[in-house]
Amino acid sequence: MSLVQKLFSLEGKTAIVTGANTGLGQGISVALAAAGAHVFGVARRSCAETLEKVNAVGGTFTEVIADLSDMSAIDKIIAEVSSKTERIDILVNNAGIIKREDAINVTVEDWDQVINLNQKMVFFLSQAVAKRWIEDQKGGKIINICSMLSYQGGIRVPSYTTSKSGIIGLTRALANEWAKYNINVNGIAPGYMATNNTTQLRNDASRSEDILSRIPAARWGTPEDMYGAAIFLASDASAYMNGFTVAVDGGWLAR
Ligand code: NAD
Repeated sequence: MSLVQKLFSLEGKTAIVTGANTGLGQGISVALAAAGAHVFGVARRSCAETLEKVNAVGGTFTEVIADLSDMSAIDKIIAEVSSKTERIDILVNNAGIIKREDAINVTVEDWDQVINLNQKMVFFLSQAVAKRWIEDQKGGKIINICSMLSYQGGIRVPSYTTSKSGIIGLTRALANEWAKYNINVNGIAPGYMATNNTTQLRNDASRSEDILSRIPAARWGTPEDMYGAAIFLASDASAYMNGFTVAVDGGWLAR
């Protein structure tokens, strides 16, 4: 293996990717599997399409059906993955939801759904995995999927902005505590990507035009655009990166 292959290889590693059945989680699953990891994709629904795409790149993928809005999913996921592999090496906290509504009309129920999945679950799933890593002293990698709304206020998405602004802070907070255990906690902040998350925006001609005209790369991002940053942050190549969030945004933040 060349130095470059060694740095970026995930051969022999096991990764958990949440929200692996669609969009960015699917892209991240394909990337990590292509780099050699056995990917356990967590989703509420079948990950058949992801499995097909992972097979196409010669990777290994196992689905774990769980509803991440329920905290009891954590023990179920860890137990199921642990029964099929020796060790978890990488956790990608990708699953997330967005609720679009004027701030004045947001309900407690909608607020809780977004915060519980996008924020509370990310913390407690990370905690559960890190406990094992601290105990076996072998370290690990956590990648939190942040957002442009980790930096900006957004329009009509106050609960989402709260959750994603929290996650970029949580990424730093966990890195501060866990870097000494050889646990790298970093984030990826995708820009405006063509997935279910942005269907409403892309269907709104005027919003869509506003967004596109502000992206220096002049196009919506894709799940494939996540490949490089995901492999980098999951691999030895990022061994001395702690608490940083990389933007994959076609230049949106540079504007
Ligand atoms: P998506 O809607 O296709 O993906 C969301 C994923 O989360 C799906 O796989 C879904 O099954 C999963 N999920 C939702 N609720 C769940 C639950 N209760 N239990 C288990 N899984 C659940 O959209 P996406 O764009 O791929 O979103 C992935 C992540 O990227 C999210 O955290 C999102 O906030 C973030 N993000 C997306 C964009 C974008 O422009 N698309 C930009 C920045 C950040």
